[in-house]
Amino acid sequence: MSTKIPIEISARHVHLSQHDFEYLFGEGATLTPEKELSQPGQYLAKERITILGPKGKFENIAVLGPCRNETQVELAITDARKFGVKSVIRQSGDIEGTPGCTLSANGKTLDIPRGVIVAKRHIHMTPSDAIRLHVQDNEEVFVITESYERALIYADVVVRVHKDYRLAMHVDTDEGNAFASDANPYGVILKLFDGSAYNLHMWAEELLEGIQR
Ligand SMILES: [Zn+2]
Repeated sequence: MSTKIPIEISARHVHLSQHDFEYLFGEGATLTPEKELSQPGQYLAKERITILGPKGKFENIAVLGPCRNETQVELAITDARKFGVKSVIRQSGDIEGTPGCTLSANGKTLDIPRGVIVAKRHIHMTPSDAIRLHVQDNEEVFVITESYERALIYADVVVRVHKDYRLAMHVDTDEGNAFASDANPYGVILKLFDGSAYNLHMWAEELLEGIQR
C-alpha cells in the first residue's frame, strides 16, 4: 500500500462562529457552500470577508464552513508580518492568548479579541492510516517531500487521527512555497532516530554541541 501523503496548501482563510457570521451577514443567514474540501463535511463558502490588522488588510478572504464554536483567522507568517500581528503557531481551535483583528463584510465591522493564528502543520488521517503508517494521534513526525531540485524535510508535523478524516497533509502558503511542488505534491513520513519521536530543535542543539546520533 502507498505511503504517499497528499500535501494540500491552504491560503489565508477564516472560520467564523455562527454568531459572528450572522453579525456580518444578517440575522438568520447561513453559509453558502461553494466547493467541498478534502476533509469530509468541510467546504469553501461563497461568502468572502475583509480582515484588517494594525499594518494592513486582506480583502476577499475565503470563509470555510461549517461554522465553528469560535472565529479563527489563519495566516502564513508572511501574511502576519504584512498584517502587523505577531505570528503565533497553534493547532486549529487553540486560540487562547492569540492576537485579535477586525473583520468586515457588507458594511459591517467586528473586532475579535483573539483568534489570529499561524496553523501548525499537520496530517489528517483515519485510524487505519495511522496503523499502516505506524504513527499515533498527536505524534509529531518528519515528512520528506518530492520536489524538483528543492526537496524539503518538514519537522514538527503533528498527526491528527479521526475516523472522519481523509489522508492529507496541510501546510500554509509559506510552507508550500518552500519546496518546488508539482500539481499534486505529496510527502512521505520519514522515520529518523529508529522511528522514535524526536524534535528537530533538540537535534540541532545536540549537533551544535558536537553530539552525533
Ligand atoms: Zn487541516
